[in-house]
Amino acid sequence: MSNCLVCDHPIDSFLSFGNMPIANHLPMPKHFRNEFRAELAVGFCPGCYMVQLTNLVEQEHLYNDEYAFFSGSSKGMSKHFQEFAEFIMQHYLPTDDSFVVEVGSNDGILLQHMAKRNIKHLGIEPSANVANIATKRGVESLVEFFNVTTAEKVKQTHGQADAILGANVICHIPDIHSVAKSVKALLKPNGVFVFEAPYIANTIRKTAFDQIYDEHAFFFGVHSVVNCFSRHGLELVDVMERNVHGGSMRYVLAHKGAHEVTSKVKQLLVLEDHLGLLKIETYQDFAKSAEKSRDQLKQLITGLREQGKKIVGYAATAKSATVINYCGLTPEHIKYISDTTPAKQGRYSPGAHIPIKPYEIFKQDKPDYAILFAWNHADEIMAKEKNFIKRGGKWIVFVPEVAIVENVKQ
Ligand SMILES: [Zn+2]
Repeated sequence: MSNCLVCDHPIDSFLSFGNMPIANHLPMPKHFRNEFRAELAVGFCPGCYMVQLTNLVEQEHLYNDEYAFFSGSSKGMSKHFQEFAEFIMQHYLPTDDSFVVEVGSNDGILLQHMAKRNIKHLGIEPSANVANIATKRGVESLVEFFNVTTAEKVKQTHGQADAILGANVICHIPDIHSVAKSVKALLKPNGVFVFEAPYIANTIRKTAFDQIYDEHAFFFGVHSVVNCFSRHGLELVDVMERNVHGGSMRYVLAHKGAHEVTSKVKQLLVLEDHLGLLKIETYQDFAKSAEKSRDQLKQLITGLREQGKKIVGYAATAKSATVINYCGLTPEHIKYISDTTPAKQGRYSPGAHIPIKPYEIFKQDKPDYAILFAWNHADEIMAKEKNFIKRGGKWIVFVPEVAIVENVKQ
């Protein structure tokens, strides 16, 4: 049994996926034999209510030059980042010499909006390949992990920040206390720490078991965020639900007492209690639902293949690695996965080694079924793929439940 990364209380493990490959490493055939695997399992801490991975993969195994996630590759996400940037500039960057820092700035999709307006900014990004793309976009980037040493260094070179941001990245950092200490050191007295992450209530409600993969160390809720950061004198002052990554929450934190706490924080604390998010039984039920989805999806796909149907995957997302390997799907089941990101094309899905092919192949190939791995971008995909349905194609979905459909609502 492992202990909580936040409060050191023993964790109640509720779901194990078995040995899984690295979700965002897309191997070539020469890598197949030595592909890294580790147990993927998730647990609930009854001490602070944090849902978390119980077996962590070393950061160096996850974020290196093999890392294949580029946040700029989706139109929907570009729009979301623009809104996020506007929100921050309007509310939290008050003066001409305001300074904003982003943790895990990836390819600069968020900070480019600040860079365009000549706002003093710095992206901190450990993966050099994506940071280089940011630099080309005019985003000042520092290739480092975000920790106290880096925070002190930035404080010396740039001064303290008015806003420190994290978009779907804070949940990736297992040493959450180091994040909190670094924020404490780098944040101006009246500054804010704003981060977004998939919201645990949505993950549970939708049985979105594919949100669980090696990079997501934490599955935040309002309770667990309060419990985690209050230990460091950081107060949760506002929360906003966002319709990205299958239902996310934007958390706004500040030094204790510096900002007024909105009523929305209190409302969500009450709601989480009503939803059962403070009890292990809720997570055990989630695990049963995930197992049911796994069995149904495997059965559905096996049945269709026996009828000779051609099935492909739509979008080689990190989340798809969990679904494919958990369900035991192979190239026999899924002919290939279509993906628009050039860096992914010609590579193979982790673990199952399903070929990843350019989107143009999907358009020419006329498959009978496409498994919608990027269900969190359903609105954009449905608008784009009307022809797929017109010529008789159908979607296979597994969130919130396994089904064959012609239309998917986000
Ligand atoms: Zn805990």
